[in-house]
Amino acid sequence: MVVACSVGMAVRAQAPQVIKGADERYKVDILIVAAHPDDEGFFTPYAAKAVYDLHKRVAVVFSTHGESGKNHNSRERGPAVANEREIEAREACARLNIANVWFLDGKDTPSQDLLNSLSNWGHGANLEKLTGIIRLTRPEVIFTHFPGAFIGENHGDHQATGVLVTEAFDLAADPTVFPSQVAGPSKDREVFLSNLRPWQAKKIYFGSDASNQKQFEGTGPTYSVREVSPSQNKPYWRLAIESAMAHRTQFPEEIDRLAKMSDADLEKMMNDPNDGWWSEPSTLIFGKSVVGGKPTDNVFAHIHDPIQKEYAEAAIACGSQADRGEKLPRLELGGPWKYYAEFYPKHGYCQLPVSKEAEIGIKAGSTLMVPLVFQHDAAKPVTVTLKVNTPEGWKVGEGAGPLVLPAEDSTALLVHVDTPALSANELKKAVPEEVRVTAEVEGKPAGEAKLNVLLRPSAQAQ
Ligand SMILES: [Zn+2]
Repeated sequence: MVVACSVGMAVRAQAPQVIKGADERYKVDILIVAAHPDDEGFFTPYAAKAVYDLHKRVAVVFSTHGESGKNHNSRERGPAVANEREIEAREACARLNIANVWFLDGKDTPSQDLLNSLSNWGHGANLEKLTGIIRLTRPEVIFTHFPGAFIGENHGDHQATGVLVTEAFDLAADPTVFPSQVAGPSKDREVFLSNLRPWQAKKIYFGSDASNQKQFEGTGPTYSVREVSPSQNKPYWRLAIESAMAHRTQFPEEIDRLAKMSDADLEKMMNDPNDGWWSEPSTLIFGKSVVGGKPTDNVFAHIHDPIQKEYAEAAIACGSQADRGEKLPRLELGGPWKYYAEFYPKHGYCQLPVSKEAEIGIKAGSTLMVPLVFQHDAAKPVTVTLKVNTPEGWKVGEGAGPLVLPAEDSTALLVHVDTPALSANELKKAVPEEVRVTAEVEGKPAGEAKLNVLLRPSAQAQ
């Protein structure tokens, strides 16, 4: 088309160039980030409701391929099992109409210490990858594992997944973090720059593998797993079980047993509080929200409200509460417990239902390791004496007694305690017992660290 412009010259009007936007096939309402194949099961009853009846878009990310769990179905092991479990995980999601499934590069790390997992995975590279997936999928809410230490399965990979998600939740909105992901396209080097946009997800919810699930009641929204899906005419638990039955390398006998059960028997199993896979109702543990609202609000309440500027300030305020301002010298628990004490306020988790006393479950007869940190005067070496109080029959090993520490402001220490092997009967009656380490400098008390320890028939290594 030729038009006359105001100065009388004829020019060719340029059709505007359309710049392409984000690919809507990857936008989700809920991103589930699960540690291992089958851990999506923490959230599948809700995912079934969200996909089929709330018409929400859901995608799943797995931290590992599940290569180290035993194959109960056939002879393949190690990397071959990882290849099988990737397919099983995709199938489990596909059974709930969830097509978009990604895997991080974490390696299965069987221990209770999230720090072992983060080390073995390559923390930085996986954080970058997850941040990129959040910027690609632009989730409104994220469901993941509770980053906390509890008596229970307490799997380090589960906890590490919760930590990575927390970090990525906060970092994905910051354009200076992994900037190549948000850099615009480059003509000659297109392969390097992602042209994603920064993204702030609005809320995080957790599932926990703690033995005591009662402690999470009232800490987030609840939903009914027994509710019948109006569109599928099946209860949500049933849809979730049908999804889980894709994990044949993990529990083939259970899958065969379930496949033979009548609808009535399945119903009976789900209603049995000792056998049900999910509690009724189920609680989604509230982590945090950047759009306000109460922890127990509906998952999608306030989701389109503006992001609160006070959010960042609240995180800082929460941090200052955690500043105990205790005098030096002082002994405190180290390892995961010290890490979480610093991690929660840093990421604005002011309301998490964490256990008041540090706790852990270990195998009876194994050696308990009590990680400690002694804060002291950086100017000179110090002699500290550690005394350990244990339940009767437990034996204090390495790490206790007088120790000469170097001139530094904090020194990491480790005390070993041998625990007794217990009979099956004793194990049934076992309750958490306190191990207390006290520090003395020049005969004066210099703090104490306590850990409640439950001896169990089996447990992941510490
Ligand atoms: Zn797992």
